[in-house]
Amino acid sequence: MAIKQFEAESKRLLEMMINSIYSQREIFLRELISNASDAIDKIYYKALSDDQLVFNKEDYYIKVAVDKANRTLTISDTGIGMTKEDLESNLGVIAKSGSLAFKKENELKDGHNIIGQFGVGFYSAFMVADVVTVISKPLGSDQAHKWESEGAEGYTIEPCEKDSVGTEIILKIKENTEDDQYDEYLEEYRLKAIIKKYSDFIRYPIKMDMKEQ
Ligand code: ADP
Ligand code: MG
Repeated sequence: MAIKQFEAESKRLLEMMINSIYSQREIFLRELISNASDAIDKIYYKALSDDQLVFNKEDYYIKVAVDKANRTLTISDTGIGMTKEDLESNLGVIAKSGSLAFKKENELKDGHNIIGQFGVGFYSAFMVADVVTVISKPLGSDQAHKWESEGAEGYTIEPCEKDSVGTEIILKIKENTEDDQYDEYLEEYRLKAIIKKYSDFIRYPIKMDMKEQ
């Protein structure tokens, strides 16, 4: 499959992001959880103006799952999902915020909860992961797509299977090195502490699912 290049500016920006913008690596989880919450908010706002769409609060949640044996940390949501085009334009172009665009399109002013606006938070995942895989199925479509990237080199997109609407972000957590520790991002107590520190205000339930071996 052909690897698509990030735009030139995006590539430089991505390198900067990974190396310097954020002083604290742990904030990647805040960014992915805020994106998940935004995605659920988008279904909520759509339901306000669409009689066909019923928003049952119990159906909407965020899940943080660890598979230690495979070194994966997965953040999934039951939010609005992304089409192939959304994956291309929102994840293929750094500093392009789909959430800012959503707020403009829907004329959301004050009093809404959508957090995203700068279009860079997602890429903080590369501070802790050497492969990021996004599997997403958008509201109103049966087709899911898989977006995958190892960082500045570019990304691939292909059709895939996914049962329910929403998005799954799978991080292949980096191996520890002499200078840098990453194993902590596969530990329940550590993840819980990060969630408590930065994501306590999120209005949807955050469930944890730990698979030790
Ligand atoms: P921001 O949140 O500031 O817009 P991000 O870099 O965090 O920027 O995310 C870029 C865009 O990718 C978002 O605006 C959104 O359109 C899309 N996106 C990211 N994560 C998700 C998700 N879990 N579900 C749906 N769309 C998402
Ligand atoms: Mg964001």
